[in-house]
Amino acid sequence: ATLLAIKDLNKSFRTDNKFVQALHHIELDVREGDFVTVIGPSGCGKSTLLRIVAGLDTGFQGSVLLEGEPIAGPGIDKGFIFQEPRLFPWLTVEKNIAADLSLRDAGVRRKVDELIELVRLQGFEKAYPKELSGGMAQRVSIARALLRNPKILLLDEPFGALDAFTRAHMQEVLLDIWKRNGTTMIFVTHDIDEAVFLGSQIVILKPRPGEIRGRIKVELPYP
Ligand code: ADP
Ligand code: ADP
Repeated sequence: ATLLAIKDLNKSFRTDNKFVQALHHIELDVREGDFVTVIGPSGCGKSTLLRIVAGLDTGFQGSVLLEGEPIAGPGIDKGFIFQEPRLFPWLTVEKNIAADLSLRDAGVRRKVDELIELVRLQGFEKAYPKELSGGMAQRVSIARALLRNPKILLLDEPFGALDAFTRAHMQEVLLDIWKRNGTTMIFVTHDIDEAVFLGSQIVILKPRPGEIRGRIKVELPYP
C-alpha cells in the first residue's frame, strides 16, 4: 500500500535579492516498507524535500499525503535523523533514547532495552554522549527516533560525517533495523554507492530546477 504520496510538489525560497526554485514538480510514491534513497549533488533540494515530508517546512505548493492525510507538522508518525547526532550531553544513552518518557515505566524500559539491542549499544546504557564515537552517537539518535514506532524514518545524510569503516557498519545496522522492523525509510545522501547499496527505490534529483530525473526500482536482494 502507498504510505506517502507526493504530487506536483513545488518549493521556492525568496530572500532579499534572490529567488531559488528548490523543488520543481516532484512526483513520488513511497510504499509501506520501501527503503527509498534520494541522491543528487549538493543544493539539488534533498534536504528541502525531506524537511517537507517531516512536517518541518509547511510553506510549499502541491500535495504531500501520509496515509492519505496531508502532512501537518512534525509528529510521532515520523522519525527524523540529522547529519549530526543531536543528543543531550547531560543525559545517559538510555535517557537520551527515552527522551521525555520515564524509564520507570515498565513498557518504556522494555522498549528502550529492545532499541539498545537493535542498534547494538548493549553495555553503554549508562554512558554519556561524550564517551561515544560518532557512529555510536548516531545509533543513539536512530534508537530515539524509533521509540514511538514511527511509520516512516527520515534520514538526512546520517552517515556523512563518519569514516568509511564506521559508515559501512552503520549501513549494516540500518539494513538490519529495516529488515527486522519493516520501517519505511527515506534516506538522503550524495554518495552514489550508499544510495545503490541501501535503496530498494532510488530517486535522483536534478541539480536545477530540482526535478526528479528518474526513478530506479531495484528488486530487493534482501529477505
Ligand atoms: P541539498 O540538501 O540537496 O544540498 P537543499 O535542499 O539544502 O539542497 O537546498 C536546495 C536549494 O534551496 C539550494 O539552492 C539552497 O541554497 C536553497 N535553500 C535551502 N534552504 C533555504 C532557505 N532556508 N532559504 C533560502 N534558500 C534555501
Ligand atoms: P545539507 O547539508 O543537509 O544539504 P544544507 O547545508 O544545504 O543542508 O542546509 C542546512 C540548513 O540551512 C537547512 O535548514 C537549509 O534549509 C538551510 N539553508 C540552506 N541553504 C540556505 C540558503 N541559501 N539560505 C538560507 N538557508 C539555507
